[in-house]
Amino acid sequence: MLELVAEHDAEQVAMTADPDTGLRAIVAIHSTVLGPALGGTRFRPYATEEEALTDVLRLARGMTYKHAACGNTLGGGKAVIIGDPAVIRSDELIRSYALFVDRIGGRYLTAEDVGTTQADMDLVRTITPHVTGVSERLGGSGDPSPATAWGVLHALHAVAERLWDDSSLAGRHIAISGVGKVGHALAVYLADAGAQLTVADVRADLAASVASEVGADVVDATAIHAVACDVYSPCALGAVLNERTIPELQCAAVCGCANNQLATDDDGERLGAHGVLYAPDYVVNAGGVMNIAQELGSGGYDHDRAWAQIAGIRDTTAKIFALADERRVTPAEAADHLAEARLAEAAQPS
Ligand code: NAD
Repeated sequence: MLELVAEHDAEQVAMTADPDTGLRAIVAIHSTVLGPALGGTRFRPYATEEEALTDVLRLARGMTYKHAACGNTLGGGKAVIIGDPAVIRSDELIRSYALFVDRIGGRYLTAEDVGTTQADMDLVRTITPHVTGVSERLGGSGDPSPATAWGVLHALHAVAERLWDDSSLAGRHIAISGVGKVGHALAVYLADAGAQLTVADVRADLAASVASEVGADVVDATAIHAVACDVYSPCALGAVLNERTIPELQCAAVCGCANNQLATDDDGERLGAHGVLYAPDYVVNAGGVMNIAQELGSGGYDHDRAWAQIAGIRDTTAKIFALADERRVTPAEAADHLAEARLAEAAQPS
């Protein structure tokens, strides 16, 4: 296990097991160079403890890069609770988890992730202040999805500026895969901006209702990546840009909120070779964590301040495209360089 910690370059790992509630949890802190580590709590039935540790270490490192690239003064961390939430979740288990987070003493701040809910975070807040993403009635920032969509919209403006020297999205054809919480909000923003939309979702009812709301065409979820359009916007699952799908793309750019869109690092190169501009996922989808970070600012959460800051994703995306040109690397590599430069600067003794 310690080898895994070293391999992922983590600062610290904390583990707990509470037989009274069935809680088995791991917190990984990858870096606190920029500030306390913030990342969500994933609650899922891992096959082995090693798989859980590997996942939490990988996700924590991803959070370091996401915070660094988007300008948050936060570090990277993540937590996992091992088990099926539908089977083992209880209020006692969540309270026990909250106590675990509290004992870490503020070096790790938790939030909602796959398998946990805002109600869980509200319960965590009754035990520890080291939690974000609580309900608006508790002074929190609420559901991050509209903020994430707002960030994607601004990344799309940077893509348009870069490709067509005009940041307007009016008349641009955008194909959105997945119209759940973020994809739906994005479709509404884009319709307001005058874009032409095609949408798809494995839930045909959802695709149809969003399409009728925003005036979009609908295609099958298996075909959306191959629609001839200006921008393909993956807003569902990861690994959708791979050896099979990239040759089928008929878009000028890819820019969406889904996490881990590139199946492998080579797929960044493959996109470039296919003539497709890639806006790196963790930069495009940082609106949610930027929104949550606002809860920690002086005076508490302020919607307008948060929205203004999230709009800065446009400049960050533009900067990454410029850096990719300058260094002759892919935008995905340029995003990593930007994050690493910020971390290196912060790590320097003043
Ligand atoms: P969601 O579950 O609300 O929406 C996802 C949608 O995708 C659902 O409607 C689902 O039916 C659909 N879907 C599933 N498989 C599909 C497929 N193969 N093809 C087309 N559609 C499919 O989730 P969300 O909160 O909107 O998040 C979407 C993505 O963005 C996820 O990858 C998530 O990790 C990432 N993300 C979300 C946020 C946020 O603030 N919610 C922030 C950062 C990243």
